[in-house]
Amino acid sequence: MTHILVVEDEERIASFLVKGLEAAGYAVSWAAAGAEAIAVVTAGGVDLMVLDLGLADIDGLTVLKRLRARGHHLPVVILTARSSVTDTVAGLEGGADDYMAKPVRFAELLARVKLRLRAPPAEPTEETIEVGPVRLELASRRAFAHGREVSLSAREFALAEVLSSNPGRVYSRGQLLSLVWGYDHDPGSNVVDVYVGYLRRKLGSDAIETARGMGFRWRAET
Ligand code: CA
Repeated sequence: MTHILVVEDEERIASFLVKGLEAAGYAVSWAAAGAEAIAVVTAGGVDLMVLDLGLADIDGLTVLKRLRARGHHLPVVILTARSSVTDTVAGLEGGADDYMAKPVRFAELLARVKLRLRAPPAEPTEETIEVGPVRLELASRRAFAHGREVSLSAREFALAEVLSSNPGRVYSRGQLLSLVWGYDHDPGSNVVDVYVGYLRRKLGSDAIETARGMGFRWRAET
């Protein structure tokens, strides 16, 4: 039996959706909070998720991004009270397959659910850079070294992303200042060297090589 998870913190709306989907022949469970939704999907067996963006604990888009980052590619229909295009586009870029504005017309929701269940599974949307033992997940800004997650600041991640996107290519300090920090001049600090030091400590001392007198390069795989 096809299993649908309804994620909605308002009990009245959730109950309306659950009853309707059950009447349409689906096995339905309900999560009132984002953390609970992540736990249920992670446990397995969910074929489709109906996800409200406005949740009490974590935002629906965050729920979606975390699930996609963990490799869950189940179809998702987003419900949103927000009419803003920005939110919708952000939702789709976060890996949702479909969205609809509240208030929900049940017939329309059911049509979308049926369509999504028939469609081939979504391709993974998480673009990753993997060089040697280091893996960067670009959408969710997560970094891993030797299979273990490493916590990087936004700037550290940006520097790693630039360097690792072209392993073996030397970037001058000026180029890195421009690409990562947005400076069009060298402020006369050693900020690039400092951040390269941070990354070497976190990702492994040999991830980034110094090209003497020229700059830095990500170690190319041999
Ligand atoms: Ca809600």
